[in-house]
Amino acid sequence: MALVCFPFKKERVPTVLRNVDIAVRHNCVDAVLLVGATKNECYRKIYAAIEAKNNSDQPYAKPVHILVQTRLATVLRPGKGDGMNTAMQFFLNAHEQPANHFTEPLKRLHFYDADIESFDHNWITKAEDGAALGYDVVRHYFPRSSTDAQVTWQVTKVGFALLWPRTTLPWVQQPLGGELCFTRRVVEALMAEPRVMQQSDWGIDTMYTFFCAQKGFSLLESYVPQGKMHALYGGLRDLKNMLCECFAAVQSLRHEPVSEEPTVHRIDPATPVPSCITEKIGYDIEKSMRLLREKWTARQKGLLELFPEKAKCGLLRASEWPEFMFMDEQCWVSAYKVLLDHFNVFDEDWRELIFKMWVARVLNYTMRHVTRGYHCALQANTEMVTRLHMRRTMEL
Ligand code: GDP
Repeated sequence: MALVCFPFKKERVPTVLRNVDIAVRHNCVDAVLLVGATKNECYRKIYAAIEAKNNSDQPYAKPVHILVQTRLATVLRPGKGDGMNTAMQFFLNAHEQPANHFTEPLKRLHFYDADIESFDHNWITKAEDGAALGYDVVRHYFPRSSTDAQVTWQVTKVGFALLWPRTTLPWVQQPLGGELCFTRRVVEALMAEPRVMQQSDWGIDTMYTFFCAQKGFSLLESYVPQGKMHALYGGLRDLKNMLCECFAAVQSLRHEPVSEEPTVHRIDPATPVPSCITEKIGYDIEKSMRLLREKWTARQKGLLELFPEKAKCGLLRASEWPEFMFMDEQCWVSAYKVLLDHFNVFDEDWRELIFKMWVARVLNYTMRHVTRGYHCALQANTEMVTRLHMRRTMEL
């Protein structure tokens, strides 16, 4: 008994409907759930298309539900977290609602981003196979362009390596991935965790990954070779909210213990990466360089006093001229530690400051490593996390 959920906000309607269709046709799927952010135009169009299909002579063979997300948290911005947690609530209680016609409790909950253009039945099959082998959690991972995933590498993976080096967390391939499958006991455990239910923003993926590790659930990371096709970001500014919210999620967990006992964590081996991914540039470099000079305030410059000399002086120079080679790995990690102690996600000066530091870090990485080719760049990311992880393991 599996439920497939697609959270969505504003996406291309034909892509979403195509993905719903693929899920409905899969043998292992009993129902599909769409959770919209608000009753916007995209929601109305998808709702109307589902109604039309169900009233046609070829209705969906399985129930397709569509909901607006419930406001479950109280403090943080309502976002994807409220959407995914709404799906978890629906999943747990679905069999108690006679109108849903589920004869027994649902057993597995899958999540996939609604906008995946390369989605096909294999994503669901791989997750179901992993669950059949007995894994509590199956996460999909896939090849990404060398300039993609810079919140994952610079924020989440660095944070996990710094804070929990002896655990399974630094080994999770794509800790912010939204394509995964939870068994019922995982959903029950996550929903019993108030910090998960309060994480209504982009930080939700961090929370799911973290608490699954803390609770010792077994994990299979399943490889999807075709990757996830999605649109190029404009400048890095599109990612500012995500950066701040993902950092704040790691920061909020920094005093949480995670057992160092080994847990089951298997990683499906990767295969050669197709050229459509190795040759793709994920963001507009020129536009991003300008960001270093934008939106400075006197207070931001004052806050720089908290940082080591190299980060402070480098960023001050960058406020006048796009400079970023100062933000190497060591400079970023030393700034990261200060941010862990002082960053305030509700304070716009702090948000701008972490954003500019991260932009400098991403530009540094792009110019130093991406220019040497896809494989060198990926290797540099991996080595950054491994070095940090090893150093912290020795220190603690
Ligand atoms: P990215 O894959 O990390 O670049 O993030 P996307 O912008 O593609 O978002 C991932 C998925 O979450 C997509 O299906 C979005 O439509 C969906 N999404 C984003 N924000 C919200 C939200 O506030 N509520 C809900 N329900 N879904 C959201």
